Amino acid sequence: MFVDVAKIRIKAGDGGNGAVSFHREKYIAAGGPDGGDGGRGGNIVFQADTNLSSLIDFKYKKKYTAQNGQNGSGKRCTGKSAPDLVIRVPKGTLVKDAETGRIMADISGADPVILAQGGNGGWGNSHFATATRQIPRFAKSGAAGESFEVTLELKLLADVGLVGFPNVGKSTLISVVSAAKPVIANYPFTTLTPVLGVVRLDSDTSFVMADIPGLIEGASEGVGLGHEFLRHVERCRLLVHVVDVSGCEGRDPIQDFAAINRELHNFSEELSQRPQIVAGNKCDLASPEQIETFRQEVEKQGYLFFPITAATHQGVDELIRCVAVKLAELPPIREYEPEIIPMDTPAKKGKRDFTVRVEDRVYIVEGSWLMEAFGMVDLDDEESLQYFQRVLRDTGIIARLEEAGIQEGDTVSILDIEFEYVR
Ligand code: GDP
Ligand code: MG
Repeated sequence: MFVDVAKIRIKAGDGGNGAVSFHREKYIAAGGPDGGDGGRGGNIVFQADTNLSSLIDFKYKKKYTAQNGQNGSGKRCTGKSAPDLVIRVPKGTLVKDAETGRIMADISGADPVILAQGGNGGWGNSHFATATRQIPRFAKSGAAGESFEVTLELKLLADVGLVGFPNVGKSTLISVVSAAKPVIANYPFTTLTPVLGVVRLDSDTSFVMADIPGLIEGASEGVGLGHEFLRHVERCRLLVHVVDVSGCEGRDPIQDFAAINRELHNFSEELSQRPQIVAGNKCDLASPEQIETFRQEVEKQGYLFFPITAATHQGVDELIRCVAVKLAELPPIREYEPEIIPMDTPAKKGKRDFTVRVEDRVYIVEGSWLMEAFGMVDLDDEESLQYFQRVLRDTGIIARLEEAGIQEGDTVSILDIEFEYVR
């Protein structure tokens, strides 16, 4: 089974909590606060691995969670940060946000890419000591690590893609020009997984060719095999369109040629504009007239034409040399840029978003980040209370409550904290 799409959940580690601790020593009554910070949670990192050729591993394991940072402890001990979790994928894998379809990264280079950031560790209480607040009895909890559901989509990195109907000789062609060993047989759909081969002309000229399963009509609408494989030629700089000129299976080469081009066009306008060289294969079975008729049609449409017999290597060298010359003129293989999240999407805004709803004059504030900000607040402690009030003001919660019409004496409810509103 060839797997080139998968959906997984990634979750970076949470930061460790800061510690509440006080220095203790014999004969010293009240030592200062010495609670250390929490450690950072581990990131989720993607790394291209040239030894992998499909996303099959992700069919079985769907959840990837990096470790959390350690909590801080007394004596200003900072918790240990967690190591990154490295996920290895085949080169050319696109990572998309499953919810929006936004491209997050194209794992095509050699460098590892961070896809989900581990949460920062919370500050221990030693940070909160000031001249007026000498006994801070609170610390911050660690921030949550980022978490996403992502789709992985493999788009092979090849310079040249072979396209054409099944059985026209694509696999035969790649097997005679490279070391690739695809299955070759006289029935449609023998190629079920894309095969990459390196074509070497001389010591400093080589390119990568991809043999993808044969396209059939209707493929762009998802009928039968082929459509899902077209993504693998999307990055190709050049297409070699292989046609059986002999029509030995009762097919008309001119119609076949047009049908495949229609499929490419239906799949993507851009792909149909990709430079294309036409290889008329099985010339050993074709009459000179058949070859000539086809050549004239193709050249009339503005394509370069090469008659070949892949099985005996006839004409193949000329074709390959022309491909190399064309490639030298074309831009490099496309890499996809990460798509930036627009400011007003929930993904970005959600971070510090909250809602206020009123029930029986109780103003209820809700939001996913509140736990992180207020989870360790202790309202019996004066310092903790001051911290709490400052955050309420700085994050705009107070302003929003006033907008909602809150009056002196009304109750505010945040998490399990309830307090009376005073101006
Ligand atoms: P693909 O489906 O396009 O990959 O086609 P294959 O490479 O698997 O070839 C299909 C059949 O055509 C196989 O039986 C090949 O041996 C045969 N074939 C390929 N190239 C030639 C050729 O140049 N001449 C002849 N006579 N047969 C060929
Ligand atoms: Mg094949």
